[in-house]
Amino acid sequence: MGLVGLSGNTVTVEVDISDGLPHYNLLGLPDAALNESRDRVRAALTNSGEVWPNRKVTVSLSPAWLPKSGSSFDLSIALSILVAHGALSQESIDRTLILGELALDGSIRGVNGVLPALIAGHREGITRAIIPVANIDEGALLQSMQVLAFSHIKDLLIYLRTGVGESAAPGEIDTGVQTLLDFEDVAGQARARFGAEVAAAGGHHLLLIGPPGAGKTMIASRIPTILPPLTIEQSLEVTALHSVAGTLSERSPMSRIAPIVAPHHSATRVAMVGGGAHLIRPGACSLAHHGVLFIDEAPECASGILDSLRQPLESGTITIARSIGNITFPSQFLLVLAANPCPCGKFTGKGLACSCSSLQVRRYLGKLSGPLMDRIDMRIAVEPVGRADISSQILGESSADIAKRVSAARALAKERFSGRGFALNSQIPARDLRSDFKPDRKAMAFLHDELDRERLTARGLHKVIRLSWTLSDLAGGHQPTLDDVTQAYSLREGGIS
Ligand SMILES: [Zn+2]
Repeated sequence: MGLVGLSGNTVTVEVDISDGLPHYNLLGLPDAALNESRDRVRAALTNSGEVWPNRKVTVSLSPAWLPKSGSSFDLSIALSILVAHGALSQESIDRTLILGELALDGSIRGVNGVLPALIAGHREGITRAIIPVANIDEGALLQSMQVLAFSHIKDLLIYLRTGVGESAAPGEIDTGVQTLLDFEDVAGQARARFGAEVAAAGGHHLLLIGPPGAGKTMIASRIPTILPPLTIEQSLEVTALHSVAGTLSERSPMSRIAPIVAPHHSATRVAMVGGGAHLIRPGACSLAHHGVLFIDEAPECASGILDSLRQPLESGTITIARSIGNITFPSQFLLVLAANPCPCGKFTGKGLACSCSSLQVRRYLGKLSGPLMDRIDMRIAVEPVGRADISSQILGESSADIAKRVSAARALAKERFSGRGFALNSQIPARDLRSDFKPDRKAMAFLHDELDRERLTARGLHKVIRLSWTLSDLAGGHQPTLDDVTQAYSLREGGIS
């Protein structure tokens, strides 16, 4: 299976062995890693007691136009050579999807992208697959397919020749929503906790501003615990993305918890949105699909990196242009940015400890401006935790309790928007905000007043209305009131000048 993005193309391996000087020829647009398969396959076979044909070996991977990369074709090439050589029957591997890299001693190594490859094979009507033991958890997700997993080519050959020696069985799959993180560990921080709840309920992107150690990361990392659990389809999609990227070890394959991905502020564009030289890998914004993308110290990001998130924020997908065509990965995430209040991080508003000039502060936060910030609905100040908060024995509200309100609010919004093609308040199109989804009369009068006084732009007005719907949903209301709107107004500004 050759993967292009998340979609797979069946690759057929043909081998011809003919008289002539010993030679090995690999046809069908292989990349460097695939070209080196000859040495791996040869060593693996001879070290497993098989005879290498000392004749002219031609291996053809078709379709020829499809660029093929990586080492996952090793195992299929090795088995095909044995068939051509008469050492293995054709029937034993007929209509079988074979994935695996070979080590020189013949052991079968795990490869990336097993789940999307199996899904693609299943769609083509293939009902049997041979995969590395290392990928067994992914293989077990496709219950409609006979998936055999082996760790050494010797064992695999015994099985194919005699039917004896069962493949390794997959372990128990963790489908739980258990995590060690919980909002009850966050002391104080009522405002930031509420901001996280609103973000989760309405899909509103969030900026947290506060000094180091105030708990920005603590709050952001707990947002997945209050988001609704993933559906099975969403979970498969997230797992497929992590499988292609090779980051599945960080996540249980069938975990229903929304993912959170936190790229460092020094991340490159490729790391953020995807790309790569041979194998096109999804970036952080796709690994955060259906979950949270958290960027700490966002003003430190190199210029252009944050703006590269505009496309996924607008369309929910990211497209990477390549000579063989465009590759599109899904990329729908909740964006949470965090920033210090000033370059030194000690800014308190009273200017006691901080040595930054007002120009430096403005410049620093000024980096968080432009088109991306138009997508951020809330700016929330995270204050350093006071002594009273820490010594308090009372735990904060638990994630489970907050999650109940989030899911009730989401249900209200979903029902309201049914048939319109969106489900979250943050997605209400601007044209609908002034017609179908207006707050009540008093609230609109207040907003028009703010517009007239030029304290609110048209864009700001839209954000306030979207936020006010989420506040209304969280309170179980039917239409945003003046209270909802004024609260939304202050969440948008965050009390930060
Ligand atoms: Zn400072």
